[in-house]
Amino acid sequence: MKELIEKLKINRDLSDEEMIRLLTMPTGTDESLFPNTPEAGAHPVKRLPLNLQFTDDEELLFGTADEVRRAEYGTAVYVRGLIEFTNFCKNNCYYCGIRRDDAGLTRYRLSKEDILKCAEEGYGLGYRTFVLQGGEDLYYTDQRICDIVLSLHQKYPDCAITLSIGEKSRESYEKYFKAGAERYLLRHETASEEHYRILHPAELSLSHRKQCLFDLKDIGYQVGSGFMVGTLKQTPECILSDLRFLQELAPDMIGIGPYLTHHATPFKNCCNGSLAMTLRLISILRLMFPYALIPATTALGTIHPKGREYGLSAGANVVMPNLSPTKFRKLYSLYENKICTGELSKACADCIAARAASGGYHIVTDRGDVMGH
Ligand code: SF4
Repeated sequence: MKELIEKLKINRDLSDEEMIRLLTMPTGTDESLFPNTPEAGAHPVKRLPLNLQFTDDEELLFGTADEVRRAEYGTAVYVRGLIEFTNFCKNNCYYCGIRRDDAGLTRYRLSKEDILKCAEEGYGLGYRTFVLQGGEDLYYTDQRICDIVLSLHQKYPDCAITLSIGEKSRESYEKYFKAGAERYLLRHETASEEHYRILHPAELSLSHRKQCLFDLKDIGYQVGSGFMVGTLKQTPECILSDLRFLQELAPDMIGIGPYLTHHATPFKNCCNGSLAMTLRLISILRLMFPYALIPATTALGTIHPKGREYGLSAGANVVMPNLSPTKFRKLYSLYENKICTGELSKACADCIAARAASGGYHIVTDRGDVMGH
């Protein structure tokens, strides 16, 4: 594998066959790398130990990615203050814990004043980037979103505003951009048409999602995309198509996290995605896109107590502490057992700084714009 990893570092690319070899090399954690495929059937789901054992090849891949990240961004870890402002969604993605058909979920919405209060708290902690995230909630018309963005922008002109509110028309994206939103996160989730149909109901389409991403780029947003690792029937070939799509899109930010189950979804009997595979992909993405902003996600921290630390040492360079009001955080339940739902924002900030420092990194709270591609 040594030659392949070196080749990926130099060329930022591998052939399809080489990439599949890297994706399927053995792991030292004894997890199934593709846990929700028939081939994984005999593989028992085990609780992972606190200190994980990786193979020499895995260590080499993580170390090479870390080297590249340090060459681009030093030891900086950028902070984005996350405000989860609505858990209503008009869609019904089969894997998602806030999908429309979950009648048992208590729904909430934050008012503009609530959102501004969250931002005020984040600003006080030094954060200069806010991410407004929510389901596709029709209550928030373009006018309401623009009003929120404009108010945030006027109050905090030195801050970057990121939206993560799903698929909209190009016209809507243009309005938000004009109001002051500069960044947009929209994970493509899977770039394989066949796999997309397994994860989504018929009214949603991969081509529309991709079109949204190209529209956002064209308008001038810094764009983030990404995908879940370990979803039902995800094969190495599915992941290969994700990597190829990301090459076509060339996003500024790439968010990946392990798929995590939720009891109120049609996928409730699936296994969680693999930590080792998620880390492997963070490293591969770092080598393919040295400039990218790659988060060590909350899902990674949920699947393992040191998941975010492992993510940072595998090449990630962003963390997204939660600024949402504590009383609502548990209700933004995309998946089960989500961490950081009880802590005050200040406690989250301190915890994240300590985690970054434990790996030799340091927190940077400024806007943290992407380096040139
Ligand atoms: S994944 Fe997003 S669009 Fe799909 S149901 Fe969940 S919040 Fe809605």
